[in-house]
Amino acid sequence: MKKITLSTLLLFILTGWVQAHDTDIPASLEHYSFEQLTNNIHVVHGTQALPSLKTRGFMNNPAIITTKKGIIVIDPGSSEEIGKQLLEKIKTISDKPVIAIFNTHVHGDHWLGNHGIRSVYPHVPIYAHQRMIERVKEGEGEQWIKLFMGMTKKAIAGTKVVAPNIGLKGGETLKLDGITLKIHHTGHAHSDGDIMIEVVDDKGLFFGDIVAAKRVPNSDVPQDASFKGTINAIKLMLKGPSTLYIPGHGLSGGREVPKASLRFLVKLRESVTRYYNQGLSDFEMKEKVIKDLSEFKDWHNFKEMGRVIAYVYQEVENDNF
Ligand SMILES: [Zn+2]
Ligand SMILES: [Zn+2]
Repeated sequence: MKKITLSTLLLFILTGWVQAHDTDIPASLEHYSFEQLTNNIHVVHGTQALPSLKTRGFMNNPAIITTKKGIIVIDPGSSEEIGKQLLEKIKTISDKPVIAIFNTHVHGDHWLGNHGIRSVYPHVPIYAHQRMIERVKEGEGEQWIKLFMGMTKKAIAGTKVVAPNIGLKGGETLKLDGITLKIHHTGHAHSDGDIMIEVVDDKGLFFGDIVAAKRVPNSDVPQDASFKGTINAIKLMLKGPSTLYIPGHGLSGGREVPKASLRFLVKLRESVTRYYNQGLSDFEMKEKVIKDLSEFKDWHNFKEMGRVIAYVYQEVENDNF
């Protein structure tokens, strides 16, 4: 069962990649800069284009939190090389060592870079949700490497699976060298093993891919997501004290960033539910739902709406039984 799901997942992403050929994107992490967002938080806002030879697989928002004596890395990218490029970039900000890594979820664009960091800091602890650790043990890391080897024409060659070694459940408060981090997990959302990381003193929240700015929510791996759970997660986090929100893809900002994703998701579920109640199949409602969501037509992956609708339809159908 799991194997079928995974290979279907990979096929879907590859199909998406063939359709998306961005020619104007800068190559690789080297060509991006850190942006300082608070006292302690710096983020590289990566490209929204899918992994390719040109980007060498890079597509996420790697970030650091500076502490008194060290650096905490969040989501070090998609390969050994990108992880090492991130270390070079960190040197432009600080000469302190990396003291911890956090992985927000199991999708390979966010954590295969663990290899690059661990090759320089062999004992650095890597934190993630325990469900992500289980999935990596079941072989999902190798699947992501295989997928990205194809998408990048082997640009990520040499990258090995370096699994997180400290499992989290959500609800933990961690104090790392004077920095307080609250870990949030609100159940199945973008995946079944997401963590969101609140940097308490900086009032900043790392959303992972539960929020992707100006990108159709859960559109890259919709079969891994609960759309209802993603709505729930964003609503709960908006009740928290943070004022800065860092998405897994796209630009960081204030409350408008998660609110835009929430608005998309709520409209999408309302639209699908309405046509479901009228007796339409997912195929029959596709054009109508796309029209209802037309205010978002400029978002990345909007051309993937057809298969996103199919998964939301399944969810709505399951809720009705
Ligand atoms: Zn993801
Ligand atoms: Zn992602």
